Amino acid sequence: MSTLAEPLEQLDDRANRGQVSLAGATRRELAAALAGAGVPEREIRMRVAQLWHWIYHAGATSFEPMANVSKVLRAALAEHFTLARPKIVAEQISRDGTRKWLLRLDPTGAQDKGAEVECVYIPESDRGTLCVSSQVGCTLSCGFCRTGTQKLVRNLTAREIICQVLIARERLGDFPGTLPPDDGLVPGEGLRAVSNIVFMGMGEPLYNFANVRDAVAVISDGDGLALSKRRITVSTAGVVPRMEELGRETGAMLAISLHAVRDELRDKLVPLNKKYPINDLLAACWAYPGASNARRITFEYVMLKDINDSPADARELVRLLKGIPAKINLIPFNPWPGAPYECSDWGRIEKFSGIVFDAGYASPVRTPRGRDILAACGQLKSETEKLRARARLAVHEG
Ligand code: SAH
Repeated sequence: MSTLAEPLEQLDDRANRGQVSLAGATRRELAAALAGAGVPEREIRMRVAQLWHWIYHAGATSFEPMANVSKVLRAALAEHFTLARPKIVAEQISRDGTRKWLLRLDPTGAQDKGAEVECVYIPESDRGTLCVSSQVGCTLSCGFCRTGTQKLVRNLTAREIICQVLIARERLGDFPGTLPPDDGLVPGEGLRAVSNIVFMGMGEPLYNFANVRDAVAVISDGDGLALSKRRITVSTAGVVPRMEELGRETGAMLAISLHAVRDELRDKLVPLNKKYPINDLLAACWAYPGASNARRITFEYVMLKDINDSPADARELVRLLKGIPAKINLIPFNPWPGAPYECSDWGRIEKFSGIVFDAGYASPVRTPRGRDILAACGQLKSETEKLRARARLAVHEG
């Protein structure tokens, strides 16, 4: 059940050299670390609670400020561990205020220079949504998605997923004593800068189930990052056998990347459909634990010109979803270099949206955000040499 990405012997060795970071640690990981640093069994629960508070509420990046932890223990911890987070290698800010961070993860071994992932912040007047990645690259190869052109490198650990939230909160002034950046947009007064999390960045979250589950647990824990589960959405291309477990074990909101209403077309757009066709996928949605009219499942539908955007497609969509507590999110296709598709015309999108709306569904067309910095849905990729040369706006060594 351990979610540590590496075997324990290797971890011990790195811990001996003081290189293991506890930023983003689950309670279980912290307890194991404390035991390893010689903390007596009877103290561990209390120490875990203290450290969690510093890490998740205060945003601590070192053991130094932990005034309620004895000096001796702080020194012992610092000898074995750090609270370092992945580094921000590049930060880009869109004209519309969307921010994209490229993060360099810690190397997992001698051969690894440190994989990179992207993570995107989308501010709106009433919320701030952080779009997190769950894998470096992806295995799904959906032809309209840029991440799909990048092979899977590896799964992110729960710590690496959670660190994306810590990094965003620090950068956006969401921790006590930190300020929002001068050049930044954040939601209105009194709101947390990061109020919502969507697992819609790079990767397929349900192919990294245990780590996503552990990350959701820390993000939603009242003593952790304390975001309501209603504000955490996990998006899947349709890994049917994991869906029930996701609902039962995390209580997160569900989004489905549907994109087509016939298997023949969906097989092409989302090749995973060959394994789990539309009927099986919808059956799993019917059975999703906790779905109700107050907790609807979001169906994402990318609008591809002359491919899936006809009025007949819209009518079939409505028919398929009948009886499922659903919201439909129409996503204008976001272009990327070399993409083999185009975005549907606005008239076509409006017509489609009208049919869905008349059938009684909220059918917001998602306003493309951050397109100018390739931060919109489906534009993420960690191939970055060019990006780094062109757009390095800020480098944080901390
Ligand atoms: N693998 C998961 C998580 C990724 S979510 C999933 O498929 O749900 C990213 C969302 O953006 C998905 O709905 C994806 O289908 C959509 N998307 C991918 N490429 C896109 C593009 N170029 N334009 C608009 N949406 C895109």
